[in-house]
Parts: sequence; C-alpha cells; structure tokens
Amino acid sequence: MSKHEAGHKARKRFGQNFLQDESIIRRIIRAINPKPEQHLVEIGPGLGALTEEILDATGRLDAIELDRDLVPILRTKFFNYGNQFTVHEADAMRFDFQQLIQDDRPLRIIGNLPYNISTQLIFHLLSHSHIIEDMHFMLQKEVVLRLAAGPGENNYGRLGIMAQYFCKVENLFLVPPSAFHPAPKVDSAIVRLVPYKTLPYPAKDHQLFQQVVRTAFGQRRKTLRNNLKELIDSDALERIEIDPNLRPERLSLADFVKISDYLADIKG
Ligand code: SAM
Repeated sequence: MSKHEAGHKARKRFGQNFLQDESIIRRIIRAINPKPEQHLVEIGPGLGALTEEILDATGRLDAIELDRDLVPILRTKFFNYGNQFTVHEADAMRFDFQQLIQDDRPLRIIGNLPYNISTQLIFHLLSHSHIIEDMHFMLQKEVVLRLAAGPGENNYGRLGIMAQYFCKVENLFLVPPSAFHPAPKVDSAIVRLVPYKTLPYPAKDHQLFQQVVRTAFGQRRKTLRNNLKELIDSDALERIEIDPNLRPERLSLADFVKISDYLADIKG
C-alpha cells in the first residue's frame, strides 16, 4: 500500500518512515521466518508493510500502534484475517506484554521502530524477556552497533551490556535510507535479540547489577575508581582483581557481574 492509497501522510513526531522496498521486506520476513504455530507481536505496524506477509505465515499477530489514524486503516486492510489479527491502539513503551500471553506460547516481537524511542523500548522489553522467544528490530545502524558491541569497541556501553546480559545479539544486515518513504537521514540495520533461557552470567541481584552498570557508565571518560566510588572502593575492586584505573568500557559483562555479586554478598 503506498502512502497515497492509504491517504496517510507520514508523521515525523511518531517517527514514521514506511518501508517501501519489496526486496528488503522479503529479506526481513526471511530473517524472522514466522511459522503457523507461533504468536507474533508487531510494534508500530504503520501502513502494514511487514504485516501482511507475517499474517500469511503465522497463527496469530497482535499489533501495537500509537497513531490512532493508522489503526482503522490497519483494521480495514486486514479485516479478512479475523481473530488471527488484533490491533491495539497503544503506546508500546507502556504496554503490558504479559496480557498477550495465551497457552503459554512465548511472544516473537518484531518492529521497524521509531528511532527516537528505540533504546527506551528495548529496555522496557528486556524486562519482559522471560515471555519472549526472540525480537527482530529495524533500528538506526548505530543503535545496532551499540547493542552488539563487545568490551573495548567504540560503541560498547550500558545498552549493549544490558542487552547481552539477557539476550544473544546478532547484527543481521544493513538497510539503506532509500528503502523507506520518506527516506531517513541515517542508515538502518536489522538486529535479532534472543533471550537466554538460562543466563550465561546471572547476577545474584539483577537490580544491583543494573545499578552497577548504570553508575559505572555515569561519566564515560572517568575511571571505575571515580564512577563507582559511592558503591565500592578501589581496594575492594583490586581484591576482586578488577583494576580501578580502567575505564568502564574495558570491562566485560562477567566483570560487571563480579562487582555486583561482591556488593550483593556484603549487603547480605
Ligand atoms: N512498520 C512500518 C513499516 O515498516 O513501514 C512503520 C514503521 S515506522 C518507522 C514506526 C511506526 O511506529 C509508525 O507507524 C508509528 O506511528 C509507530 N509508533 C511510534 N511510536 C510508537 C509507540 N510509542 N508505540 C507504538 N507504535 C509507535
């Protein structure tokens, strides 16, 4: 459906860039590989560029769309799919994904996300990762690089550590601005996040772990000694064999868990 057919003008404030490149759409659907017995959730279906192919392949699709003008367009377009398709007029950042669970089937989340809310939304979804089988997102390329980066890499930071704590992260492929209407100013990429059934580095206290990571990256150019001084002193860091003079971007996920577990032990 083109923007003219739908009579809908793309809205900047909702981050609307609609996919129009058929070969990219097919490539995304191949990467997602939806199956009839699965339950998918699409965030921000827009005019439905990905929706139809997903509906043809899967058993159930819930879509969450914030723009109330798009909701009736989607309902009309996919009316023939009956109960297989439900549109929720809602803000995905506040949406309770647990309410969608039926028959204990985990959710497969997909979305070409509005770039201004993508990191916050990913943090929101990570807190639901126990009910999620996997997530495929189109994001600004830099955000995908941040999600997938390891210690010492330029883009490594809080977002990547939190995502990699809960999920296996795969940077799948790049998508150029020309694939969208209107074309965004930045390159995009598709990322796959698969929540671990058993966390590889489970922290004794998840909240504390999150606090340690947030505090350690409080000021990126400062050392751990400085950033973490309210939580742990440098002698204690040395005792657990972490150099307090390092900057946070040198530490692995396992190192952050080690700091958090030390603090959990002394808290009792
Ligand atoms: N999936 C469509 C496509 O690929 O052509 C549209 C993608 S467009 C980049 C982002 C979509 O997310 C828009 O339809 C927009 O209205 C919707 N959206 C923006 N903020 C949202 C939010 N907080 N919750 C749910 N949907 C949102």
